Amino acid sequence: MTYKTNERPPHGAYRCIECGTQVKVDEVNYLMPECPFCKSNEYKQVKDDERIKNYKEVK
Ligand SMILES: [Zn+2]
Repeated sequence: MTYKTNERPPHGAYRCIECGTQVKVDEVNYLMPECPFCKSNEYKQVKDDERIKNYKEVK
């Protein structure tokens, strides 16, 4: 399942399918942002175990 920029996915962590950068979607950042690194707009949801290991907060 993939999500795109400006969609409203379930809260959680997502990873850019182009470069692997992770972003978090929560109450503050509810719409999926574009990738801060490569400006891609497609993401895959990150599983909980991956999020703990690789999580990187994007401000
Ligand atoms: Zn990217």
